[in-house]
Amino acid sequence: MVVVLVHDRFGGNRAVEFFRPGQEGTSVITRLSQLFVRTLRDDPADAEVASHRWLVRAGYIRRVAPGVYSWLPLGLKVMQKVEAIFREEMETAGAQEVRFPALLPRDPYEATNRWTEYGENLFRLQDRRGNDMLLGPTHEEMFTLLVGDLYSSYKDLPLRLYQIQTKYRDEARPRAGLLRGREFVMKDAYSFDVDDEGLKASYQIFRDAYIRIFDRLGLEYVIVKATSGAMGGSESEEFQAVLSAGEDSFVRSPGGYAANVEAVTVTPPPAVAFEDVPDAVVVDTPGTPTIASLVEVLNTNHPRGDREWDAADTLKNVVLKVTEPDGSTWPLVIGLPGNREVDARRLSAALAPAEAAPFEEADFAAHPSLIKGYIGPGALGEKSPSKVRYLVDPRVVTGTEWVTGADQQDCHVMHLVAGRDFTPDGVIDVAEVREGDPAPDGSGPLTVERGMEVGHIFQLGRKYAEALGLKVLDRNGKLVTVTMGSYGIGVSRLVAAVAETTCDDKGLAWPVELAPYQVQVMVTGKGQEMFQAAEDLVEALSELGIDVLYDDRKASPGVKFTDAELLGMPVAVVVGRGLANGLVEVRNRRTGEKREVPVADVVATVRELVGG
Ligand code: ATP
Ligand code: MG
Repeated sequence: MVVVLVHDRFGGNRAVEFFRPGQEGTSVITRLSQLFVRTLRDDPADAEVASHRWLVRAGYIRRVAPGVYSWLPLGLKVMQKVEAIFREEMETAGAQEVRFPALLPRDPYEATNRWTEYGENLFRLQDRRGNDMLLGPTHEEMFTLLVGDLYSSYKDLPLRLYQIQTKYRDEARPRAGLLRGREFVMKDAYSFDVDDEGLKASYQIFRDAYIRIFDRLGLEYVIVKATSGAMGGSESEEFQAVLSAGEDSFVRSPGGYAANVEAVTVTPPPAVAFEDVPDAVVVDTPGTPTIASLVEVLNTNHPRGDREWDAADTLKNVVLKVTEPDGSTWPLVIGLPGNREVDARRLSAALAPAEAAPFEEADFAAHPSLIKGYIGPGALGEKSPSKVRYLVDPRVVTGTEWVTGADQQDCHVMHLVAGRDFTPDGVIDVAEVREGDPAPDGSGPLTVERGMEVGHIFQLGRKYAEALGLKVLDRNGKLVTVTMGSYGIGVSRLVAAVAETTCDDKGLAWPVELAPYQVQVMVTGKGQEMFQAAEDLVEALSELGIDVLYDDRKASPGVKFTDAELLGMPVAVVVGRGLANGLVEVRNRRTGEKREVPVADVVATVRELVGG
């Protein structure tokens, strides 16, 4: 081995070249005194979650605007390591890398209707000639068009493409730093097949690749059934990172059912016989605009013989105003058992791309037949005079008996039977899913957990290919529409998700595979011999291909320790007083374990810790 001293880009710092048998390379030592980073003592004012707090305080990212961040050297290194894992696994999956622009013309998104459907989430702009353009929120359209431009035969398929690229979505609530940005980095992949079987095979290939990716990232995750939302298509699954700071809820059963709460489908109970149910009757229930007040008055004024009245005996009617992407609105009433609430996320998934909002006083004024607090099926339905659309929870099956609004102030109706006394316009499955509810596939009671979607895979089918005319000649010379899959995974969100699940109360604590540097070497004494010993160690470690960050600053040991814990490299090597006795301290950031190691053994110890 030959060590050559040269000047490096930091101006005067030492770069060391190593010539090893059969191998040669250059390794530049990164000195903390020169690194473009400033650690902060205070939390950023807008930090809601730990990863956000630590990534900013450790100088990995800086906020530019809500949901828009700059990446500093340390953060960028982590992101590049995530990307490297993605690229390796995409290559294994037989996908080729391309890159589309983020600045896109309106036309393709018009053709698929997403220019409208994306609503306010889309960043729109105009060029100097007044042409509408957008910043890409996702790229199905562009991939479909490109493949259609270049390919024309079944012999060209299957095809798998991907890109790692910046996306733009004007999220209503950017939050938690990188977890929900308005500018963020996504790896999006697309598959193109000539038939359904091909699509299924491609889907499986990407699903397997994603499993390998998340395993390598060391993230705890669950694959759940998902809704397709604005994307369209049929089959879709999400990879949910198990994260208390996450915005999603998903359910699991002991028998292996797993779904985003948005995608849980309630199995309707069988119809009930109602021959013995008395005729419906309107009763006075003064001052009962809420379910709780209604149940109380029922038990006082209209006690039933067998048991107490319960909220589950009542049919609650929730009035909403639905706004379509084109701005038009319509009223919707949802009938559901009084012991359940409408779940906002399930509702928004069910209505997408339309959006629902509570009915306001002005809306009630425009619909005088809807008596606030006393609305019942009598005033509802597209065939009723009000023409208000009335959809009910799947549990409201024929024969079920309810107490519900009588459409008169202070009155309710008892013994109202679904299918006998009223017929809704349809079913909407948007009631909250509760811990203990049965899994739809009969695999046991559900538990509810918090998560953050980190990947989403779709069998899109032919929606985009049809809209944009992507056809190829099949084996028999017949033109057929190509079937597609789309596979998105968040790069920047994953940096935050890993930080979130690995950090502690002292700062970041990266897994070896993602850490910007695997080892941080620091000196906690003064003598020149300590710095020399540290430099020797840094060189020896670098020579082995281990990424080392060398804290060469003339700062106090306290500052160095605090920063090392904040920055979160997996291993710290501390050259201090022990050196007089030939000893150096090796610390494991994640376990907190400290060891005094003879100088001669440091390299081997570190190697063992970083798996090199
Ligand atoms: P969410 O439900 O969290 O809004 P989405 O369903 O809109 O996500 P997709 O369109 O499926 O997201 O995008 C694919 C991946 O891109 C997601 O799994 C996620 O990892 C990432 N992603 C989506 N939106 C954001 C965002 N605002 N900030 C950071 N990453 C995002
Ligand atoms: Mg999604």
